[in-house]
Amino acid sequence: MSRKFFVGGNWKCNGTTEEVKKIVTTLNEAEVPSEDDVEVVVSPPFVFLPVVKNLLRSDFQIAAQNCWVRKGGAFTGEVSAEMLVNLGIPWVILGHSERRLLLNESSEFIGDKVAYALSMGLKVIACVGETLEQRESGSTMAVVAAQTNAIAERISHWSNVVIAYEPVWAIGTGKVATPAQAQEVHFELRKWLQDNSGAEVAASTQIIYGGSVNGANCKELAAQPDVDGFLVGGASLKPEFIDIIKSAT
Ligand code: PEP
Repeated sequence: MSRKFFVGGNWKCNGTTEEVKKIVTTLNEAEVPSEDDVEVVVSPPFVFLPVVKNLLRSDFQIAAQNCWVRKGGAFTGEVSAEMLVNLGIPWVILGHSERRLLLNESSEFIGDKVAYALSMGLKVIACVGETLEQRESGSTMAVVAAQTNAIAERISHWSNVVIAYEPVWAIGTGKVATPAQAQEVHFELRKWLQDNSGAEVAASTQIIYGGSVNGANCKELAAQPDVDGFLVGGASLKPEFIDIIKSAT
């Protein structure tokens, strides 16, 4: 089963209205492969979702960077899945390591968020990944499997989930995983899906890589058989994001 190449751009907590409009203009003017070949999803901060939605080309989609774990209500500062649906935002990133580590979001809490977001009709980019300490102690796959399992236990199907493997030591550090390191974890993760969720899920679920991807290193990573695309942070704010989108073909 062939999986469509997927490129996500995580703008994190960056930008002004003017800067965001400039990024959107660059994206809108870019010549990229057809949406039949590559799925492009950009993720601005919450406050810029409406402006990006109004201006962005229709073959690119939009993700929020987070959402609340349940129905909205008395949860000051949170944004609910229902609100994203109401705004017409189809995707949400959940479980980013910055939220796991800086905001102490547990794997169970993230699993609950993924389940709730899916139940509201959102599609989810679910992030998993090990710290440097965990990699050096040889527990990379155990960590990634446990994070994935906390999601698997709470959802009934994977069809609206893209898994982003993002080693924490590679995020925003300029220290990209080698193509072999990325392929090894993606392969193991797909095997985990096969053993725990079945062959069809393993064959169809997109597993994308994130961590210091840029215009120079994307081609070699994209050539790995189990790397189905990227979640890009820093470089998604720059024109080289176009080169990363083009690495699909
Ligand atoms: C990310 O934040 O998801 C990410 C991969 O960041 P960067 O590309 O900057 O390492």
